[in-house]
Amino acid sequence: MKKDIIIIGAGPAGLTAGLYAARAKMNTVIFERFMAGGQIASTMEISNYPGAPEGISGPEFGMRIREQAEAFGAKIMDVEVLRVDFSGELKKVYTSEGEFEAPVVIIAGGTQPRAMGAVGEDKFKGRGISYCATCDAAFFEGLHVYVIGGGDTAVEEAGFISNFARKVTIVHRRDELRAAKSIQEKAFNNPKIDFIWDSVVDEVRGNQRIESFILRNLKTGERREITPEEGDLMFGLFVLVGFVPESKLYEGQVEMIDGYIPTDETMMTNVPGVFAAGDIRVKRVRQVVTATSDGAIAAIEAEKYLEGKK
Ligand SMILES: Cc1cc2nc3c(=O)[nH]c(=O)nc-3n(C[C@H](O)[C@H](O)[C@H](O)COP(=O)(O)OP(=O)(O)OC[C@H]3O[C@@H](n4cnc5c(N)ncnc54)[C@H](O)[C@@H]3O)c2cc1C
Repeated sequence: MKKDIIIIGAGPAGLTAGLYAARAKMNTVIFERFMAGGQIASTMEISNYPGAPEGISGPEFGMRIREQAEAFGAKIMDVEVLRVDFSGELKKVYTSEGEFEAPVVIIAGGTQPRAMGAVGEDKFKGRGISYCATCDAAFFEGLHVYVIGGGDTAVEEAGFISNFARKVTIVHRRDELRAAKSIQEKAFNNPKIDFIWDSVVDEVRGNQRIESFILRNLKTGERREITPEEGDLMFGLFVLVGFVPESKLYEGQVEMIDGYIPTDETMMTNVPGVFAAGDIRVKRVRQVVTATSDGAIAAIEAEKYLEGKK
């Protein structure tokens, strides 16, 4: 089936691109394999998106941009993109519902936070376990927070979290951090931060909220249960062990750097007519506000690209 524009992924970037493209009267389709909203649908509150001072839940935010995009005429299909072929003038996209083609494609497949792999982790995602310090640190004001990871992001973000938390414990699987020396020094000099070495989280336990987790020492094999300190009802667990771009599909089709897709200022990849927007791009700040911004730019520039072809 032929479209003016195909957008892969209905996270904040893809939905915003769809909204702009459909509003510009392009015949627009967005493919999404899970649910509209993308990663943000996994958090119960977004409190840093401009214009929503009272905060908004992730699922509601996703639903609202979806409605807005559909109101302008974008078609959102619940399908998975399985394969792409960007070699011709018309780009081909093979989905679980058949083959589509368009002169322009926007890749907005985002990333997945890398999980720590503990039993019970899925159950508490967005409900005590967070993968985004910028987004969620403020929810743990005055509490004890555990940060899992030892790289630049984990150690740097532990410092950020310490602006809110009473105490931050970094749990790392090795006996020394991987983070840059300057970042490490800051953490070692921060009186609110301490460390548990050579350890991983095996299991997270609880009913409505996290009640405890099991730490395993990789050197001794010892397992111990960590519970909230006296007087606290809960604690926070930040898993900051990296992200994985959803880009396997595009290997050999567009240029990539460590799985992320580089673009120019117009969001165009190295392949004319193929754009990328949001977290899947090579960029420094991965947030909703930068994803929506990328989506808007990609759609506007895609329209200009198509006009130029006429
Ligand atoms: C728990 C959590 C809390 C967060 N809180 C905040 C916050 O408060 N504020 C903030 O600004 N940012 C927050 N973030 C970051 C924010 O969610 C991301 O920056 C943003 O969602 C990126 O948008 P995106 O559209 O680029 O990608 P994504 O949101 O990752 O969306 C990509 C979509 O593409 C779909 N997709 C991928 N491949 C395919 C395929 N082959 N076929 C079909 N569909 C596909 C995926 O299913 C997904 O729905 C949070 C992230 C997490 C994980």
